[in-house]
Amino acid sequence: MNAKIIDGKALSEKIKQDLIPTIEALKVKGITPSLTVVLVGEDPASQVYVRNKNNTFIKMGLSSEVVTLPSDISQDDLLAKIRDLNEDPDVNGILVQLPLPQHLDSQLVIQHIRAEKDVDGFHRLNAGALMTGEPQLIPCTPYGIMKMLEDQEVQLRGAEAVIIGASNIVGKPIALLLQKADATVTICNSKTKDLAAHTKRADVLVVATGRPNMISGDMIKPGAVVIDVGINRLDNGKLVGDVNFEEACQVASAVTPVPGGVGPMTITMLLVNTIQATMQQHGLEDLS
Ligand code: NAP
Repeated sequence: MNAKIIDGKALSEKIKQDLIPTIEALKVKGITPSLTVVLVGEDPASQVYVRNKNNTFIKMGLSSEVVTLPSDISQDDLLAKIRDLNEDPDVNGILVQLPLPQHLDSQLVIQHIRAEKDVDGFHRLNAGALMTGEPQLIPCTPYGIMKMLEDQEVQLRGAEAVIIGASNIVGKPIALLLQKADATVTICNSKTKDLAAHTKRADVLVVATGRPNMISGDMIKPGAVVIDVGINRLDNGKLVGDVNFEEACQVASAVTPVPGGVGPMTITMLLVNTIQATMQQHGLEDLS
């Protein structure tokens, strides 16, 4: 089989185009959705991510600010900064770029962001809303994956969905979203016995471990849809996912590439979340 390559860049562009009328309508009301990214320290990878987010927002006519704080900032000072942003009516979305330096408690910092400004969807109230089947702000990567599956018209009702990885930002929320879409969901982690026995019965396989090429072709059910979330930089500089792409292409019906698959969707769903948060903060359910 020669799998279809799911083009995350193209879908991202389409979603962005579809957002333009909403952004224009908000402008007419004098509203420009605004994101503030809090970047602590000078981690080069984080700087690149933040720059990409910033550029995407500016290109779309949204407002985006980066607050850069020193890597030795104290926990109290960082929390005070978050509280200021919470109170600032000109800030609709707040995102703290992770990972934070070791001495800072990421969970505590995230829980300080007011839930309605938590455009990453990591706050307990947003996680709980997802858990109870009434999602508010959905974590961007899982949200993007669902958009890709929807765009590909993947039949989720009754499908066997297997997720490798159980993090709060990818594995758990995508499991809840797939379950909400009536799939039968299995979540695997590093202690799972006989991982291949699970992956081989997956109609939809989502892999988010950060282990380069750990899923080989023989672990994939023929005709499966494979979503590769991993982003791994090899020693030779090449960027690869958690799935062996060439092998997956021989077995699956559709596969996301790395780069160009889930990655671009994540930033686009951050735009969606920021616009949604802005509308909710202005009491706008819809703009019609
Ligand atoms: P994480 O917090 O490190 O979680 C990794 C998960 O994978 C854990 O649940 C871990 O199990 C599980 N795992 C690790 N090795 C395993 C193995 N051999 N077999 C089965 N499960 C295994 O990672 P994350 O934040 O979810 O990110 C995962 C990957 O996705 C990373 O490469 C990251 O860069 C990438 N990512 C990409 C995007 C994007 O926009 N494309 C967004 C977010 C993350 P335990 O729970 O047992 O430790």
